Amino acid sequence: MNKPFLDKLRQIDPYVPGEQPKSTGTIKLNANENPYPPAPGVGEALRSFDAAALALYPDANGRKLKNALAERFGLRNTQVFLGNGSDDVLALAFQSFFCSETPILYPDITYSFYPVWCDLFRIPYETVPLDADFCVNARDYDRPNGGVVLPNPNAPTGRGVSLAFLEDILAHNQDCVVIIDEAYVDFGAQSAVPLLSKYENLLIVQTMSKSRSLAGMRIGYALGSETLIGTLEAVKNSYNSYTMDALALEAGAASVADEAYFRTVCGKVIATRERAAKALEALGFTVLPSLTNFLFVTHPNKDASVIFNALRQKNILVRHFRLPRIENYLRITVGTDAQMDALIAALRNIL
Ligand code: PMP
Repeated sequence: MNKPFLDKLRQIDPYVPGEQPKSTGTIKLNANENPYPPAPGVGEALRSFDAAALALYPDANGRKLKNALAERFGLRNTQVFLGNGSDDVLALAFQSFFCSETPILYPDITYSFYPVWCDLFRIPYETVPLDADFCVNARDYDRPNGGVVLPNPNAPTGRGVSLAFLEDILAHNQDCVVIIDEAYVDFGAQSAVPLLSKYENLLIVQTMSKSRSLAGMRIGYALGSETLIGTLEAVKNSYNSYTMDALALEAGAASVADEAYFRTVCGKVIATRERAAKALEALGFTVLPSLTNFLFVTHPNKDASVIFNALRQKNILVRHFRLPRIENYLRITVGTDAQMDALIAALRNIL
């Protein structure tokens, strides 16, 4: 059949998210979601929400949530940008800041959405190899570039770098925008927020999907100088003024209001992570040191793909990336203690 219009369609390989199974009873450790519910105030905010308010557009500037975040981080609300999940924020940041012909730089092993945005927005990029232990070498970023993207901690490796390390990267990259993707920072890594007062070209991106148990609500945000945030606002307002719905603004603000609950949940995930890491090591796994809510592991005697499929048979989902250098690794989200016990028992059986 002749369909000449097909030649005119965009060809692109999209990012593939972790699967969301329909069946109940699955132990879902494949998308770095939080096993605990969001702060109680989130439920209250949703229950008391007046559906009649949905007849009106939401606040395009998301002031309630911006103010809450600005206060928490000691910034002005003009230094906060909101998006429909941090993927939305990152996609906009790529479009807004990476407009040069010089390639942007990011690690060879990192969040696999970055190359997809580069393809989509036709941004030239070069990947910088992590060393044999999956560590970043700051000196690799001392060269002309159109921008730098570094997740801290990195995903899927789980490794974090210090504030001094990040400052070193920034000090050597002042003629471009440096994006630090802090999706997992709340599980024990150092945030770059203290560097914002010194570096106008620093953009920090965070999410409520992981540490605040709000993946289903889609709330991400960026923190940066008024110059960078103003550019993001202008680009956002050039395609969709209302990326944040009215419910998300309420839910996000309610989450930020409960710092104690936030800290408790992060503490529980960290404690389970350390316990699970020891149990996995006892089974012979090599476990990378993690500052996230997941563990990146490999076993010397068993293929990651074999383990992945065997776990799947037992209704336990983890993540396996068929990518160079990491095809023999599994990324396992930290669930509850009970979920991790079930995982360990299943792995003992498989091995
Ligand atoms: N950055 C990294 C490194 C991630 O792993 C994820 C989660 N897939 C995101 C950003 C995006 O998260 P969200 O869109 O849910 O905020």
